[in-house]
Amino acid sequence: MRCPYCRHADSRVVDSREADDGQLIRRRRACPECGKRFTTVEEAVLAVVKRSGVTEPFSRTKIIGGVRKACQGRPVDDDSIALLAQRVEETVRAKGAAEIPSHEVGLAILGPLRDLDEVAYMRFASVYRSFDSLADFEREIESLRAAARARDNGGADAVEAAGRPN
Ligand SMILES: [Zn+2]
Repeated sequence: MRCPYCRHADSRVVDSREADDGQLIRRRRACPECGKRFTTVEEAVLAVVKRSGVTEPFSRTKIIGGVRKACQGRPVDDDSIALLAQRVEETVRAKGAAEIPSHEVGLAILGPLRDLDEVAYMRFASVYRSFDSLADFEREIESLRAAARARDNGGADAVEAAGRPN
């Protein structure tokens, strides 16, 4: 790594530490020529391949922007959105691929967004899945209701099993 002060072509690593849960490596470097120190950050490149074939670096900020838009006017705070974006990044990185199709990023958003806020989820899904008729919305709402029923039933059964008086 070239020294940013004197442009000397080489530098020596004096310290390395992980940051951001191991997603980044920060290195402290020293220039043998001028003696100044500087920091570099190393990050594995994760590229998102858009439908057009164009790739762009994965961006958590972009996910936060898209989800925040879907959550407009909903009782969802910024911390929850940031946490969701972090979960999405973890899901996507866990696939271990250097390139991921953009629709997989969308899919990774849908699950946690549904848990967060169903209205925001519907907004996001309608754009992401290109809903173009009421039937699409009806189908999605029906699947949300089915999931909610399954949750409620599971909860009721659990309560009954745990606390049934004899
Ligand atoms: Zn230097």
